[in-house]
This record gives sequence, C-alpha cells and structure tokens, in this order.
Amino acid sequence: MSEKFNVPSELPRYPRSMWRTVTTLPTFPELKEEIKVDAAVIGAGIAGVTTAYLLALEGYKVALVDASEILSGTTGFTTAKISAQHGLIYSELLSNFRPEIPKSYYEANIEGLRFIREMVETHGIDCDFKEETSYLYTNQEDKLDDLRKEFDAYQELGIPGQWHESLPIPVDAIGAISMPGQAQFNPIKYLKFLVEKFIENGGLIYENTTIEGAVYGKPIKAYTIDAELQINCNEMIVTTHYPFWNVPAGYFSRLNVERSYALVVKPETTFHGGMYLNIDDEKRSLRSATFEGEEVLIVGGENHVPGKSDNTFDHYLELEKFAGKTFGSREIPFRWSAQDITTLDKIPYIGPLSADYPFAFIATGFNKWGMTNGTFAGLLLRDNVLRRSNPHMDTFNPGRFNDKSISQNIATGFKMAKELITGKFAGAHEKVDRLEPDQGGVVRYKGKKVGAYRDPKGELFLVDTTCTHMGCETAWNDAERSWDCPCHGSRFSYTGEVLEGPATDPLKRIEE
Ligand SMILES: Cc1cc2nc3c(=O)[nH]c(=O)nc-3n(C[C@H](O)[C@H](O)[C@H](O)COP(=O)(O)OP(=O)(O)OC[C@H]3O[C@@H](n4cnc5c(N)ncnc54)[C@H](O)[C@@H]3O)c2cc1C
Repeated sequence: MSEKFNVPSELPRYPRSMWRTVTTLPTFPELKEEIKVDAAVIGAGIAGVTTAYLLALEGYKVALVDASEILSGTTGFTTAKISAQHGLIYSELLSNFRPEIPKSYYEANIEGLRFIREMVETHGIDCDFKEETSYLYTNQEDKLDDLRKEFDAYQELGIPGQWHESLPIPVDAIGAISMPGQAQFNPIKYLKFLVEKFIENGGLIYENTTIEGAVYGKPIKAYTIDAELQINCNEMIVTTHYPFWNVPAGYFSRLNVERSYALVVKPETTFHGGMYLNIDDEKRSLRSATFEGEEVLIVGGENHVPGKSDNTFDHYLELEKFAGKTFGSREIPFRWSAQDITTLDKIPYIGPLSADYPFAFIATGFNKWGMTNGTFAGLLLRDNVLRRSNPHMDTFNPGRFNDKSISQNIATGFKMAKELITGKFAGAHEKVDRLEPDQGGVVRYKGKKVGAYRDPKGELFLVDTTCTHMGCETAWNDAERSWDCPCHGSRFSYTGEVLEGPATDPLKRIEE
C-alpha cells in the first residue's frame, strides 16, 4: 500500500492541464441513434481531429466520436513541442533500416510541422504558435557517443543541425545538437479551430460515446457498449490512441506504453528560449509558454510503464527539485501526467488496420511526438481514404515487419505473460481499516484482496483490480488517484470508470 497522499504546498493538489484550463471548448451530444456516414473517426485527439477536418474538406460526411470529451486524452496533457527532433531516433532507424526510411520519417514529421504552421498563418489561429530551436543534449559521459552518432545520422540524412558543447540556458551539458526552425504552441487552441471548421463543413461530433467494437462489412458497423447503437460507415478510422479493437492484427502485442510527468513553473530567472530534451538517465524536457500574460516554463520528464512506480507522486517532486535548482520557482500553477505509445520499431502505425481490412484505418504509436506524427497521420489517413498515393505510405504501413520487430513482439508478449502471473500472486499487506483519507492501495477485505480508496471525506470505494481488457492486475497510482494497468496502459478512476483505453468496460465495483 502506498504512503499517505501528502502534497507539499508548492504543488497543486490535483492534476490539471494548462491547455484545457485556458481554452473553452464547445461541447457535443452523446450518440442517441443509429447513423450512416461516409467516414467514422473514432477518437478525438490530434490525430482524429486533424483527420476528420481534412476528410470533411474533401466533401466526406464524417462523424467524429469520443468516449469522453474531445481533446481530453493525451493531446490535452502534452507538452506540445512541434519538432522533428525525436531523441536518438535517426541513428536508431539508420541501424535498423535502409536510409530511405529515416529520411521519410523526418520528411513526414516536417510535413506535420509545415501543415500546422500554414494553418496558423493562413487562418490567423490564435494559439501561441512560436518558432523555436530544438536542442537534444547530454550531461553524461557514457551517453556522449550516442549523441555523436545521432549527429552523424543528421549529416548522413541531410537533416539540418549543429553540434554544441553547452546550452544557452543554465542546464549542465557536455554535448548538444540543435535543430533550427521547430515550434511550440497551445495544441488545444489550435485544434479548437479545426473542430469549428469541421462543424462548418458539415461534420458531426459525438462525445461520451464509447465504441467497443466493429463488424467489418459493407458498411462497417462500429458499435457502442453492449452493441446498443451503431454507426454505419464506408470507412472507419481508429484514432483512439491505443486501439480499442483487439482482434485484427494483434496490436496489443505490438505497442508499449509509458507515462511521463509535467509541471508548469513560474520561474525566478529569465529563460533564454529554445526547447530542450536530454538523453540522460533522468529524463528532462523544457520549453516556455505563456500563462496569465507571463512567461512560464513547462518542465517534463520521469518516464515509467503505467502501474510500475511505487510512488507516482515522487516523479512530480523530482521535477519540482530540478526546476527550483535550475530556474528558481515562484509558483507551480499546474501539474499533470499522461501516457504515450511506442511501436516496436519506433515508427508510428498509420494506414490500413490490416491487409484483410482495407476500409478500416489506424493511427497510433507516436512515440511521444504526436504533434508532428499525429498531424502527419491526419494527412496520410486522408490520402489512404481517398486512395491517393503518398510517398510515405510504406514507411508508416502498420503491416510492415522486420526481424527486430518480430523479436520485440515476442518480448512484449512475454512481458504481458509475466504481468499476468506476478500480478495475480502479489500480496495485499494492509487491512482496509488502516487506509487514511485520500489514500488508496490493494488491501485485504473480508479475506479477499481488493483495490480500495478512501476519499478525503472518509467514504470507501472498493474495486476488483483485474483489468477488464485482458485480465492483468492494475496498480494504484497515488498522484492521479487511479488504477493503472501495466500490460497495455488502461486506466480506471477509483470508482472503477474507464479513464483511458484500450479497456472499454469499468472495473467491477465491490459493495461494502
Ligand atoms: C507528458 C507527455 C508529453 C508529451 N509531449 C509532447 C511534445 O512535446 N510534442 C509532441 O509532439 N508530442 C508529445 N507527446 C505525445 C503526444 O501528446 C501524443 O502522441 C498525442 O497527443 C496522441 O494523440 P492521439 O490523437 O493519438 O491520442 P489522444 O489525444 O489520447 O486521443 C485519443 C482519443 O480517443 C478517445 N477514445 C479512446 N478510446 C475510445 C473508444 N473506445 N471510443 C471512442 N473514443 C475513444 C479518447 O477519449 C481520446 O480523446 C507527449 C506525451 C506525453 C504523455
């Protein structure tokens, strides 16, 4: 069982997204009747909204459906750097593929960046878009060779970049690569504009409508929980972050999920611009933003597999320490954490769900770079639906396989089998009456192991901690007050409601 939730005074008690707080989004109804459309886009994050917007522009009748509110998934909780500098991606891709593939990956991401920039400039979208240089850096001797290899990859692939021995901000570094001409923005303000244009072009949006599965035919029938309602569509596009549909193509054994953390800090010192990411053991990400008319810093980092951290609150504390030591911290108005998905070879899956399902498409696995990858996904999915050629189709085709991805697929399967076994045998050491207000964990209750959370008023909420997706054991997440699954990243509130898929059914409530 976790320590009592004990929030230091500088950190907000509850997680909240700055982007969603400063932007008022329109609301939309639930789906209440069966509908027929040309295309159904399931999942309204950056990938879904961009795809829906582009298809409506082409004259398609499109329904965009979300299990919750639009833009309330990872897109609402990102750090929103718009950059093609993605850690050590280019050296890694060069070691696994012929150079055309990393080149195509780079160009696709630059196309994502260019699309956002053109939208902002053409329509005058007020979304704090600002051009910045990206920096990738290390302060660890044992990582310097990796960074040099990444710089060599830039040169081999013709990617603009420069080598530096230090950074223009007071963060220690022994090596850095800069990539000019990248950008940052408020993604929710930007996507709100696309949503409004989508509606003007005849688009339909349904919120609080969870799609549980689909029957593949002509039309495709995407159905809601317990098959209560269905959307009939000629083309179905799944942009639910983690695919909700398990069977075709076995995506659950081809994707890995990682959580990470962010703080918004009002600094004591001046920030000299740029967007930063290190490759060191303690991951740190930095950029500036504007909040209430003043410059703030977004400090990110601290990755782990969901459900695999003893005390999730410690990750915020580490970021707070780093921010205080480096820039001074007057106030921390926001904290949040979220998760993103990586494919086996680090290139997103964007395209037909599988060869057997040519009218169903998917976009997932943005590897924490969904602003460019997710925007590019919209462009590529539009071309897929229109049967238009696109030079990057093969690079992102979800049906691709190479030797490395097959062996990693087996490793991912092993990981899940291990979680299934160890999770079932993990003990519950505390009795439920030892839980203090605002404390949760796995406890013994009437001779059984159950998940329990006692709210600040003392009310107790008991759940069966078995994930409803594939039966792994969820773990308590202190900082978000949620039950998180280590196998595929499904998350549930303390009352058992689904917060994040692939699960679509709630955890079973246990009555006192
Ligand atoms: C902490 C953090 C920082 C990041 N920083 C950056 C960054 O600086 N730059 C960058 O490029 N990327 C960044 N990323 C990655 C980026 O935010 C994501 O890749 C991107 O937002 C994912 O977008 P999406 O559209 O795939 O998914 P989401 O935004 O999660 O949208 C999916 C939607 O689908 C809905 N949904 C799920 N299941 C169903 C269902 N069964 N039926 C109907 N709807 C459903 C959800 O409610 C959700 O609204 C970051 C990620 C994290 C975690």
